[in-house]
Amino acid sequence: MRSTKIVATIGPASRDPDVLERMVGAGMDVARLNFAHGSADEHAETVRRVRAAAEAAGREVAVLQDIPGPKLRLGPVAGELTLLETGSHLVLTPEQVEGDATRLPVAWPGFAELVGDGDVVYLADGAIRLRVRQVRNPDVEVEVEVGGAVASRQGLNLPNVTMSLPAVSDEDLRMIDAGVEMGVDLMALSFIRRGDDLRPVRERLAAHGSDIPVIAKIEKPQAAANAEEVVEAADGIMVARGDLGIELPIEQVPLVQKRLLHVAGQKAKPCITATQMLESMVSSTRPTRAEVADVANAIFDGTDAVMLSQETAIGRDPPGAVEMMAAIARATEDELPYWRLLTERGLRGGDDPASIAFGAVGAVYQLGLKVLVCPTQTGKTARLISSHRPQVPTLALSPRIEVVRRCSIYWGVCALRMDEPHDTTELLAACEHAAVEAGLCSSGDKIGITAGLPAGVAGGTNLFKVQQVA
Ligand code: PGA
Ligand code: MN
Repeated sequence: MRSTKIVATIGPASRDPDVLERMVGAGMDVARLNFAHGSADEHAETVRRVRAAAEAAGREVAVLQDIPGPKLRLGPVAGELTLLETGSHLVLTPEQVEGDATRLPVAWPGFAELVGDGDVVYLADGAIRLRVRQVRNPDVEVEVEVGGAVASRQGLNLPNVTMSLPAVSDEDLRMIDAGVEMGVDLMALSFIRRGDDLRPVRERLAAHGSDIPVIAKIEKPQAAANAEEVVEAADGIMVARGDLGIELPIEQVPLVQKRLLHVAGQKAKPCITATQMLESMVSSTRPTRAEVADVANAIFDGTDAVMLSQETAIGRDPPGAVEMMAAIARATEDELPYWRLLTERGLRGGDDPASIAFGAVGAVYQLGLKVLVCPTQTGKTARLISSHRPQVPTLALSPRIEVVRRCSIYWGVCALRMDEPHDTTELLAACEHAAVEAGLCSSGDKIGITAGLPAGVAGGTNLFKVQQVA
């Protein structure tokens, strides 16, 4: 079994039902829908297709809704592409014109209020650098310091600006409504700066009576600086290296990645490492050695999941990219320092479930347990066990199908739906039965089971049972 989870972005190259089925077969655990592109109807159709592909494969795949947040973008460009010459001047305007080399539309009404003279504006993933020469509200005149080609609707970064933008716009809120309606399993919010930025999302979800986990995408220097607070406020984080590498000096990215993964590990929150992991596979059959090493190192750093972006959204062979990711993960997992991960990672402090999780993973090595089985109402016990990186599978059993799907981002967790017997003896028997049925252990093996007394209470894990399979 592979423990590291694979998130794959669905796009034009992977929306086809047949391709989706092959991606699930190759090991896609989470399908990411990027709401910065496409219509709600299109995404709803993609969700249906992902569900159908998962059903055909007989396993659960989570759907992750990625919400753009305060992401600045260009408007349309005439002919889709225009070349900006180094040294030339142009105007950025909030007017919805067709852009060219003299005037480019920015899809943000108050853009001129965000920048001042001398500020830097990056386009094309940081390849193009503009310098603000004069703000003539609502337009902004800039000089092209480093030129290049820009395309329609490309992202625009203002690293030095502590933007007074709302973390969540009305459009984002409507996307959240649509996501709940479509039945997505996880939500990610882009460009957050502090823990509080997640609050409007939580409130909107609460209004729907939903407890969908919210993942904070760390792609602003401010969010990286507030890592502890952001990890605390979120249900998980994404190291969004694409924008992070523009907003911060690019050489800082590996260091920030290591620090974020460390903080997330200490707080037992799942983490996705994202962007350009196998970038050359957008057009090539094989990744570079450097890319393979990048994926392996993210796993050594403690990531729960690795993510494919362009590779599966527009790449030449999305299932092939997933397969490659899975192969790298499996090879890396053979050599992880499990004993050290147990003691260095995971929640400390006086919480019963955290203590049971730590003890359970320790017992794996002391007693040679084949699997840890954890009945869980919310997925919390599975998350706590996972944070200690047990070398054997964790089988999470939940009565809620949405919780089963949420477990798709937890490292090493395989989840199934099961109604929880309220009698503890029956519960232990049902756990053992489920583990045998799942092929995770057989007669004579020792397994570990976590449980809670009284049964059926969320967050109530306070028992650990070692059991020999009959
Ligand atoms: P994006 O986020 O793909 O939505 O931009 C990921 C990143 O910035 O790395
Ligand atoms: Mn981004």
